[in-house]
Amino acid sequence: MSVNLQTPIDYLKGVGPNRADLLRSELGIHTYQDLINLFPNRYIDRTKYYKINQLQRNNAEVQVIGTITGFREVAQKRGKRLVADFKDETGVMELVWFRGQKWIRESLKVGQPYVIFGKTNWFSGKYSMPHPEIELQSEHESNLRSAMQAIYPSTEKLSNKGISNRVVSKIMQQLFLETKGKFVETLSDSIRGELKLVSKSDALFNVHFPKSPELLSRAQFRLKFEELFYIQLQLILKNLIHKSKIKGLIFDKVGDYFNTFYNDHLPFELTNAQKRVLKEIRSDLGSNAQMNRLLQGDVGSGKTIVAFMSMLMGLDNGFQCCLMAPTEILSVQHYNGLQEWCNKLNISISLLTGSSKTSERREIHENLENGNLQILVGTHALLEDKVKFKNLGLAIIDEQHRFGVKQRSKLWHKNELPPNVLVMTATPIPRTLAMSVYGDLDISVIDELPAGRKPIKTVHRYDNNRLKVFKFMKDEIAKGRQIYVVYPLIQESEALDYKDLMDGYESISREFPMPDYQISIVHGKMKAADKDYEMQRFAEGKTNIMVATTVIEVGVNVPNASVMVIESAERFGLSQLHQLRGRVGRGAEQSYCILMTSHKLSQDSKTRLETMVRSSDGFEIAEVDLKLRGPGDIMGTQQSGVLNLRIADVVKDKDILEQSRYYAKTVLKLDPSLALPEHKVILNTYRQMSKYRNIWNYIS
Ligand code: ADP
Ligand code: MG
Repeated sequence: MSVNLQTPIDYLKGVGPNRADLLRSELGIHTYQDLINLFPNRYIDRTKYYKINQLQRNNAEVQVIGTITGFREVAQKRGKRLVADFKDETGVMELVWFRGQKWIRESLKVGQPYVIFGKTNWFSGKYSMPHPEIELQSEHESNLRSAMQAIYPSTEKLSNKGISNRVVSKIMQQLFLETKGKFVETLSDSIRGELKLVSKSDALFNVHFPKSPELLSRAQFRLKFEELFYIQLQLILKNLIHKSKIKGLIFDKVGDYFNTFYNDHLPFELTNAQKRVLKEIRSDLGSNAQMNRLLQGDVGSGKTIVAFMSMLMGLDNGFQCCLMAPTEILSVQHYNGLQEWCNKLNISISLLTGSSKTSERREIHENLENGNLQILVGTHALLEDKVKFKNLGLAIIDEQHRFGVKQRSKLWHKNELPPNVLVMTATPIPRTLAMSVYGDLDISVIDELPAGRKPIKTVHRYDNNRLKVFKFMKDEIAKGRQIYVVYPLIQESEALDYKDLMDGYESISREFPMPDYQISIVHGKMKAADKDYEMQRFAEGKTNIMVATTVIEVGVNVPNASVMVIESAERFGLSQLHQLRGRVGRGAEQSYCILMTSHKLSQDSKTRLETMVRSSDGFEIAEVDLKLRGPGDIMGTQQSGVLNLRIADVVKDKDILEQSRYYAKTVLKLDPSLALPEHKVILNTYRQMSKYRNIWNYIS
């Protein structure tokens, strides 16, 4: 009979109630299954033995054979420490214990050969090893051990309570004894055959007790593949179910609004990428499944017109549409832009934000409900309960990372049938990551900028070159250009940041005095109306310089602004820098981005600045960002537990992720319900996973 892996960990020999409690609370290990899935962080080579005169001052973990020549107790500030002199034929070192001294003193013998293992310290001319792992050489030799020793994740509490790595390793050995190392296979023969994957049992054995580096890496590959495969399977299934179950509103005809705009009012030739994305959207909208699409496009790639033309498809089919943006400034800008096009087509459009007047609101609510209003643009205000559409067909959300998933779904519940949803973001998420984070959304990418854009020249300047930078700014203003100067605003140091902003504003006001120069300032502490007023003045060209915090980060469009000066650039994240730079380079003129920093730069800051200077490719920048910060920090991914992987790493194991997605797709294409005999093992594993481990946690 095989051992049930759902057995509580208490039942494993050598665990017992106390250890079980610790394993549960510290490592989340409840069952045999959880223990087997506790994968090592790293491995150390236990085939190598050091002589004492070979030790180096690098704090590495080493293994030494020798004998204890005597014990001493040394008084210290609090209590005492136990020290043993340990020697081999080349020299002497010390072993040190701060706890458990009585037990150590009684169980270790002078003059016997021991093997010790641990980290060495170099202290007043001598090597010492605190709390070594120690065993008699004779036992050491008779013990079964693998060449590479697994080091498991641990916590301070665990090691204080005596659950050392050696104990975990022993428990693991016990688990392999009880189960005889036989584990149910979880991947199909054909996948294993094609990828030459080792069996589940071999993989688990070698990941915990590697026989060789080569077997270890094959074991890791198989386990990573498996982990990612089942997540991808889950995501794709969810998407398929969504498509078959959730009926959408069909926009089956292309009508007058779309055609008239396309033939008579298109302000410029669409890029190929814009055309391709419109086709993808059109095909979603024409099908009877609800559209749930993510549109990624770098800043300035022209997402707005794609959004507008998608709305026209909705209007042509008698539906209302809405566009929601994260800030008031951005909503106003969208509204102004769209209104111009709407007027030409006789489309009714309104703006609803937190600062809309009560009378305006009332009118909007009324016209929404009776269907007179066709397009509504606005902020979070759109989510209020009072806002009821007659027949919302398409909801577009700009800059999605500002909205939580919950908020997104609020829009959904406005109708009996959910509207089609298009989410637009300028945060380029590397495709692989997007696949695992937004696996339930279809993804379109605008990967081409409108023709004729001149690449933005980006430079890095130190603070002490400020005068030259001012001179440059004056020259640009003389040519008729406008300039942004942006200061960081980080919540933790808000007060200081405001001081920096105000100091900066003052020094710029001194350097660029009225009436020759006009300066605007915008920051988060201002009233919305004042912000809008300042933004408007800048947008109309009435001011030369816009001093701002990152409130201008998202979406603002002032084509005549051609210089972006970013103060304390070392304090911004890469994607934020890239977003800010995207504010310029929107007109015909050569644009510049100047990254100002102090001389004190961390290695990461240097990499960020170099990347900005070198590259203008949002996706390349996102990749670097991902490497620097790790996936947990990338916008929009924090809330989704998708990156809580046990063994795989979405960044480092990108290739395996892609492979696993390919295989998951292939399997489901052939056999969407996993009914074929050859897929039985996949179906069983999948069910098992959803039963015991809430795999939905992985997703949202
Ligand atoms: P984003 O994707 O950042 O929202 P926008 O939609 O605001 O970009 O477009 C940026 C600018 O590029 C706007 O001024 C817009 O009118 C212009 N634009 C968009 N598409 C094209 C195109 N195909 N050809 C020329 N200009 C375009
Ligand atoms: Mg935009």
